[in-house]
Amino acid sequence: MFNIILFGPPGSGKGTQSEKLIAQYGFKHISTGDLLRSEIAGKTELGLKAKSYMDQGQLVPDAVVIGMVDNVIANNPDVYGFLFDGFPRTKAQAEALDELLLTHEEKINLMLALDVPEEELIARMMNRAKTSGRTDDADPEIQKKRINVYKNETLAVASYYNQFGKVTTINGQGSIDEIFNALRAEIDGHSG
Ligand code: ADP
Repeated sequence: MFNIILFGPPGSGKGTQSEKLIAQYGFKHISTGDLLRSEIAGKTELGLKAKSYMDQGQLVPDAVVIGMVDNVIANNPDVYGFLFDGFPRTKAQAEALDELLLTHEEKINLMLALDVPEEELIARMMNRAKTSGRTDDADPEIQKKRINVYKNETLAVASYYNQFGKVTTINGQGSIDEIFNALRAEIDGHSG
């Protein structure tokens, strides 16, 4: 398998680029944000628990998120590879992911980090709020909170994979296709 993490702050375009990468390569998409939102839509116990954290722009507890990811990995043994989107979001999640993958004799091959300036992130979230119905996108206080959580907790994930030389930074500004082509070039260069 070829397993990648698409990394970046909220609003950096991970969801948009994930869809294109999945269509191109056949990755199995693991978006913890999407998984959580579908638990909320289904009014499950897990969803009810997660909603209060998400609406406040806080992280859902590691154990909840890791359990969900564990399920998807275990149920998809025959895919081209996994594309992790919005996960791992803490160093503890990164360590747990590496352990999970190891039990399947797998590993993270590459982390692609989208680089987008903060003003642009806010503008994109505001814009997305108009159509997504996401309560966490519409409120400037919550946007700020999510960006702060990213800086304080999630950036450490990039340092974690950087120590293994697995991180490549991609300019996340430009057209959707320009960014997609830059991501593709990296994947093609590493997956040979
Ligand atoms: P974005 O990347 O735009 O912040 P996501 O859809 O990835 O949006 O996540 C939305 C919310 O879901 C986060 O603010 C957080 O509350 C929760 N969430 C998603 N993934 C994780 C994760 N790996 N760990 C903890 N919480 C998560």
